[in-house]
Amino acid sequence: MAAVQSTTTTAPQRILMGPGPSDVDSRVLAALSAPIVGHLDPYFLRVMDEMQSMLREVFRTKNELTLAVSGTGSAGMETCVVNLIEPGDRMVVGVNGVFGTRMADVATRAGAEVTTIERPFGEVFNADEIAEVVARVKPKVVGLIHAETSTGALQPIEEISRVVHDAGALLLIDTVTSLGGVPVEIDAWNVDAVYSGTQKCLSCPPGLAPVSFSAAALEVMDARKTKVASWYLDMSMVRNYWGGKRAYHHTAPINMNYALHEALRLVLEEGLENRFDRHRQNHLALCAGLEALGIQYAVPADHRLPQLNAVVIPAGVEDAAVRKQLLSEFGIEIGGGLGPMAGKTWRIGLMGAASSNRNVLLLLAALERCLT
Ligand code: PLP
Repeated sequence: MAAVQSTTTTAPQRILMGPGPSDVDSRVLAALSAPIVGHLDPYFLRVMDEMQSMLREVFRTKNELTLAVSGTGSAGMETCVVNLIEPGDRMVVGVNGVFGTRMADVATRAGAEVTTIERPFGEVFNADEIAEVVARVKPKVVGLIHAETSTGALQPIEEISRVVHDAGALLLIDTVTSLGGVPVEIDAWNVDAVYSGTQKCLSCPPGLAPVSFSAAALEVMDARKTKVASWYLDMSMVRNYWGGKRAYHHTAPINMNYALHEALRLVLEEGLENRFDRHRQNHLALCAGLEALGIQYAVPADHRLPQLNAVVIPAGVEDAAVRKQLLSEFGIEIGGGLGPMAGKTWRIGLMGAASSNRNVLLLLAALERCLT
């Protein structure tokens, strides 16, 4: 019998300072290797209940329908869209980066009549322009990206939520990169549907997508005339497993759920406000250091994401060569630009466990070496 060929048996130890995944605490990695139990085991059902209640705390919501979808952040995006949209429904999507473009694509595939409102990459939307488009289009749903990972911009939500609801629409937001790093206030902002991912500021491996739906969103979902386009992501069935009946739908990824459970415990042990403050302080330290190296931010200071620093690659510096050197010499991963920002920006993540003073200093020292 031929021997199985394997070039690597041990994954390298990296310092993950890109757009995600971020570094993962050893407690979360240990949770991944805990004994597997059945998806209806009383122990696992307790884990699910605790996770739902921790997710409500992290999303700052009382929404009953709050759970972790099996799949990465994009599965969360599809879940929200396909459960709210029926063929022919109108949806407005804010496109100011790669993930807004993706949401518009997902909505089109779900059969929505999509109207995009666009802003150059790095900019954010204001309430007046959203008011104008919702008055004109009269959509069922408005979708926005709270933290555009492709550009490093933070979209203010509260005032926009008011104009969306005044027009009788539902508000859907993407918090894949924001959750656990900057305030996300689902109830206070009156958000109807939200999804996130595990691998950014929650510092868990990729694999689950926390979602939450308001009572108004549930009413719309319960009044559907057509079946949800995706069997796997149909909340009318998935919620019977996460809720009272515990009806089998699909086999939950047990150990991924252990990992998220532990990651959420870590978030709440630290405290949300402390965590936001840590992200802010490390961002400010990085910002000061980058300025000293002559590196400029690609996004205006008033809507910069502390956890995703998009910076302009200095003239004459070769993007890929620097990122390669950072990885091979220092074990540090940073991200390149996406879409129109490719080759022009670096994306430096300070997410979750990776948002530390130590990482800021390490990166600045390593970057200085690569640039001289
Ligand atoms: N939305 C945003 C803002 C993201 O940053 C990402 C991933 O980077 C996604 C959606 C998609 O998530 P995933 O890659 O986990 O499917």
